[in-house]
Amino acid sequence: MRAQPTASHYVNGRYIEDEGGAPLPVIYPATGETIAMLRSATPNVLELAVEAARAAQPAWARLKPVERGRILRRAADILRARNADLARIETLDTGKAIQETLVADALSAADCLEYFGGAVAAYNGEAIDLGGPFAYTRREALGVCVGIGAWNYPIQIAGWKSAPALAMGNAMVFKPSENTPLSALALAEIYSEAGLPDGLFNVVQGYGDVGAGLVGHDVVAKVSVTGSVPTGRKVLSLAGSKMKHATMELGGKSPLIVFDDADIENAIGGAMLGNFYSTGQICSNGTRVFVQSGIHDRFVDRLIERTKKIRIGDPLDPETQMGPLVSKAQHDKVVGYIEIGKQDGATLACGGNVPSLQGFQGGFFVEPTVFTGVTDTMRIAREEIFGPVMSVLKFDGEDEVIDRANDTEFGLAAGVFTRDLPRAHRVIAELLAGTCWINAYNLTPVEIPFGGFKQSGIGRENSLAALALYSQLKSIYVETGDVASPY
Ligand code: NAD
Repeated sequence: MRAQPTASHYVNGRYIEDEGGAPLPVIYPATGETIAMLRSATPNVLELAVEAARAAQPAWARLKPVERGRILRRAADILRARNADLARIETLDTGKAIQETLVADALSAADCLEYFGGAVAAYNGEAIDLGGPFAYTRREALGVCVGIGAWNYPIQIAGWKSAPALAMGNAMVFKPSENTPLSALALAEIYSEAGLPDGLFNVVQGYGDVGAGLVGHDVVAKVSVTGSVPTGRKVLSLAGSKMKHATMELGGKSPLIVFDDADIENAIGGAMLGNFYSTGQICSNGTRVFVQSGIHDRFVDRLIERTKKIRIGDPLDPETQMGPLVSKAQHDKVVGYIEIGKQDGATLACGGNVPSLQGFQGGFFVEPTVFTGVTDTMRIAREEIFGPVMSVLKFDGEDEVIDRANDTEFGLAAGVFTRDLPRAHRVIAELLAGTCWINAYNLTPVEIPFGGFKQSGIGRENSLAALALYSQLKSIYVETGDVASPY
């Protein structure tokens, strides 16, 4: 099951290798086998990538926005045409079930390229009437931007960062997660094929040190990271020390609130999507499911019934609904949290085991797990687990649940299930979270801003908000009369 790319890095429109880089094995999470061997970027590779981006960017920024957009839209079409191949790469890299990667990964990146490819031509500065003189503003590119990805949605993250950056006239150097380095290379090839000039989208592989090398590079104007809160803090302080623009898409421990009057099947469906999709490895997951006391027991019974039916196994089998976790380290972390949940007194209502699957004994699987009787102070209710582990917490009143939902350092997302629409809007308005859903969960279309409050991050991805964050505003005052000078 080899998935070896031509070389480790894609710089200035071609693959390059530097044999001096540290080995970076690519592991298939379903079996534990090594399916490709790449190398981490050396300082030499990093320098080549930044220089290629710096050299290519000014001419790109001078093109008409529709011309830049046309290339992005062409790349979107290629992504769609290659979706089946890209889904397979993503499944091999992440272990996520192919039934998910066929609908949620490259296609989401394609939507993003298409959106920004179209939107950028209509994204302009403004004219300001000053009663004779006037002013206008221009949205100008920042220059060289760095994107750093997490491992749960590799090509989607590469698309969400590169599309608005390129649309606005920037160049990008992208570093995928060391766990999932493959699909960003495929995206780089597709950009070239669509006509993107060399040097505008470069991929360098590596661990955190390569990311830090890029963030600290003097030529780099902006960095956008998707990752954990501790990584975000490090990157933001380094970027801040050099006055660079920064967008941080970080972790969460989001509340999903189910009131007594909710449609119970929809609420359970939302809770399951918000905990088990992508084997629970989604930053915005609603991992604290607050269920009102009147519906609680029925909700739990039916949740367990539906959870037990989840098909776990071979990620390449289209019938499989849940694959393994991304790595042995993540597997051990999740299994550790399940033990902590038990020790802290939560009731293990369902799952919690490491399944033994014929032919996949070396894989990093964990059963979808539901804890009930969870209290606010338990570690499983406070810390991000990033695996298929749902905590169900009981509540009685609206004010109570709002206070409890907000009692967290995170603020990425939140959801409310109720048929009482005034209450839905009232509660959502009180929740300290950047991305919220009413009677739905975890839908992130490119048209709406995505990002977090509090420790979950700074800045937004997607929507026109992302174009603002990949540009800088220039104000121009224009005199239409004489200069009123006292000298
Ligand atoms: P991570 O923080 O370990 O790594 C993220 C990326 O940062 C990797 O590419 C890594 O190599 C790089 N990195 C690590 N140290 C660095 C440093 N000092 N300087 C620069 N780069 C560095 O995160 P992960 O384990 O890959 O992903 C899981 C985390 O990402 C979870 O916390 C999850 O919630 C979060 N996440 C957030 C979003 C979002 O949009 N908010 C989306 C997906 C994942």
